[in-house]
Amino acid sequence: MNKDGSGDPRKNKKNPKNSGPNFPFGGPHLPDMKPFKGWKFSILYILILVVGMSLFNYVFLNRVNPTIDFSEFKAKITSGEIKRVELTDSYFTGYTSLLKREPLPASPLKNPYMPPADTIYRTVPLNDPDIIKLMDEKGVAYYAVSREGSTILNIIFSWVLPIAFFFFIWRFLMKRLGNMGGNVLSVGQNRAVIVAEGDIITRFSDVAGVDEAKDELVEVVDFLKNPKKYTDIGGKIPKGVLLVGPPGTGKTLLARAVAGEAGVAFFRMSGADFVEMFVGVGAARVRDLFKQARDKAPCIIFIDELDAIGKSRINNIAGGNDEREQTLNQLLVEMDGFDATSGLIILAATNRPDVLDPALLRPGRFDRQVLVDRPDLKGREAILQIHSKTVKLGPQVDLAAVARSTSGFVGADLANIVNEAALLAVRGGRQLVGQKDFEEAIEKTVAGLQKKNRVISPQERRIVAFHETGHALVAAFTPGSDPVQKISIVPRGFGALGYTLQMPVEDRYLMTEEELLGKIDVLLGGRAAEELVFGKISTGAANDLTKATDIARKMITDYGMSSRFKNVALTQRGAGMLGPQSQEPLLHREYSEATQQYIDEEIAHTVGKQYILVKDTLGRNRPLLDTVAGLLLEKESLDEKEFKNLLEPVTGSSGFQEISS
Ligand code: ADP
Ligand code: MG
Ligand code: ZN
Repeated sequence: MNKDGSGDPRKNKKNPKNSGPNFPFGGPHLPDMKPFKGWKFSILYILILVVGMSLFNYVFLNRVNPTIDFSEFKAKITSGEIKRVELTDSYFTGYTSLLKREPLPASPLKNPYMPPADTIYRTVPLNDPDIIKLMDEKGVAYYAVSREGSTILNIIFSWVLPIAFFFFIWRFLMKRLGNMGGNVLSVGQNRAVIVAEGDIITRFSDVAGVDEAKDELVEVVDFLKNPKKYTDIGGKIPKGVLLVGPPGTGKTLLARAVAGEAGVAFFRMSGADFVEMFVGVGAARVRDLFKQARDKAPCIIFIDELDAIGKSRINNIAGGNDEREQTLNQLLVEMDGFDATSGLIILAATNRPDVLDPALLRPGRFDRQVLVDRPDLKGREAILQIHSKTVKLGPQVDLAAVARSTSGFVGADLANIVNEAALLAVRGGRQLVGQKDFEEAIEKTVAGLQKKNRVISPQERRIVAFHETGHALVAAFTPGSDPVQKISIVPRGFGALGYTLQMPVEDRYLMTEEELLGKIDVLLGGRAAEELVFGKISTGAANDLTKATDIARKMITDYGMSSRFKNVALTQRGAGMLGPQSQEPLLHREYSEATQQYIDEEIAHTVGKQYILVKDTLGRNRPLLDTVAGLLLEKESLDEKEFKNLLEPVTGSSGFQEISS
């Protein structure tokens, strides 16, 4: 609950064990809150004062005997011993001398009129009208005084209780606000308790199916373990690593595993924790988080769901969100501020990298991005194995089969399936989890996922497999094309149903006409394969076609590669000062309508011509297409070597981009 949870028990003499709230007085006032320690002492002083005053009162002001019975009091009046009676609501006080002394003298010694021994009798009044008559008869002087002698009660009622009352109300409110600082201005500063977690037990072995991501993070662990190795050599250490991937793929798990492997403290916050009602609170929290982390270095700060604060500021035309912007700015400032050699590393996770503010991705911030993707067949089996370690499996359970029928599932889904299967076994009164339980669990989960559109039907899988194989084969057959590195039909990240990854052999700055056409070919390979195999075409090639068309257009308008406008650039480039990576500079057209029409026709002509060629090539290699697609359907992903083995006889390679369906 609190930062300085030490709570000094020695100071709570009265009740050292009690630490609960709402304990009146003597209670250990907030044993665990530093700011209140002063208060505790004040209360102590007040208590001492009260006790002292009542003692004083008792000793000097009222030399009162213990109360006597009313009857005895009456008897003393009758006998004439009591000569004077003071009547108050709470007591009748009888004095043995007539002299009325007021106000009461400080010391009996200094009062010459006061007989040395004036005995005082006191009784609790009864509603007895006779007593007045009796006193009249005996000539006793009597008079009423309002509430004399109740000094202690007065103090308690008029001062101590109200103060105590307000004090407790105040304390209660403070607790309610969850304020640890005891300062109204810092409301909520620390509410989303930022506590470093030590001793994290998660290890890389608890994460499976995301080997690429693991490989990248191993280096981070190594840095945290022995930063000196890197700093000595003058190496630059990453400050921030961004884990990007769909929900449930194990991003949070990986971050914990990094902390666990490195054995360092782990500060975890969710992006949403920073976004508060009050402007400035999020920023304060960021500051606080970094301050604590710097004190604890080496350590890891993990910001989950970074997109909650890291949304692009630019897209915020309508109003914008001040609070979030301030928080984001503070985060940027802090990230720039700390020294990369201090042993502090910031991990963040998001499933919406597209909405992130570009400033976050600049060098010195989250400059390293790690893709945490959906697991393929092998990965899924490994994940199932991890999660069923603690589950009693029957001998006939085939996790590989479970993995085969869970295409497209992420780690969280698989963990869920194992758990669901175990529950089904318990419900069925079985001692071991059987294959049937798994099948039922999968069915249940699939139904849920289908609603969320995350499961691909078998027919769609086939289409995707042939589509991707089409890309890959065309790439292999196109001279000068970049070699295929990976083909996969595991839905990747965001929207793509499959992908074919090509790796350039070398950096390219110039491309020949043939190579550009080769790129168009590879892009068209997907759709051509679909048409060839299924006799119909799907929407899956939309992105490919956009890219192919774009290349074809540029060949005509920019590179002067058309027959009519050979060596003529039809578009004027804007000031391209920022280099080729920056966004397309503004283009303005400098040609007539007729030329536009020619361009459109020429694009269609080029693409159409290449498409026929591609389809023809694939048609001639139909057996190969079937083999590769078949294996792809089975294994879900093929790496470079597996692919090469399949097309032993013919090899070639082009383009440098990732071609996704
Ligand atoms: P994310 O943060 O990417 O949304 P999580 O890390 O929170 O996903 O994963 C949720 C749970 O699913 C984990 O706690 C773990 O049990 C399981 N899980 C997810 N991915 C994996 C994986 N790759 N290997 C093992 N378990 C996983
Ligand atoms: Mg998460
Ligand atoms: Zn494609």
